[in-house]
Amino acid sequence: MNRNYAKELDKIIENQGNKGKKLFLHSCCAPCSSYVMEYLCSFFRITVFYYNPNITEQEEYIKRADEQKRLIAAFNRQMESGERKGYPIEVVEGNYDKELFFEKVKGLEHCKEGGERCFLCYEMRLLETARRAKEKDFDYFTTTLTISPLKNAVKLNEIGERLAEEYQIPFLPSDFKKKNGYKRSIELSKEHALYRQDYCGCVFSRR
Ligand code: SF4
Repeated sequence: MNRNYAKELDKIIENQGNKGKKLFLHSCCAPCSSYVMEYLCSFFRITVFYYNPNITEQEEYIKRADEQKRLIAAFNRQMESGERKGYPIEVVEGNYDKELFFEKVKGLEHCKEGGERCFLCYEMRLLETARRAKEKDFDYFTTTLTISPLKNAVKLNEIGERLAEEYQIPFLPSDFKKKNGYKRSIELSKEHALYRQDYCGCVFSRR
């Protein structure tokens, strides 16, 4: 039977005992994180983890990182002024080690986007997220990646749950594109005049 990850997440959120718990949220970029932060920030204390060694060009990597920080600062200002309800959001940047990505996907350079190469790319980013979340004593970890219609949410949740077992830290199931999440991320991107890239990140996705 197909699982409904969005409903599973709602159940976790409805449990008031979870309110205020610490979430380590991997983010690929500001536009994808916009809706996810809006949705979760009144429930979890979020630290956004910008960790994307899959982005081939350094200039592009920096541009996306800067947009991520700018959006978080804007959210925090809105919270301070009372315009938005929620816990203040923190941000941490991971290592930008492009070689790690290229090593991981060696031999899969010609795969189509959405195939085996991407699964390894998801795993690379989620593994570091789980490892750091455990190290820093977070209550949950997850990723914004399920908001994209181009990403495989089932695979992402499978990987997250496997790493949760391995690192002994709960993974928050998600399918953020549901409940109009993707649509809302486009609205928020417009509202904050965010840079929205037109390719995923690696050199292969640019072809
Ligand atoms: S297309 Fe995107 S998800 Fe797939 S390998 Fe490239 S950067 Fe990673």
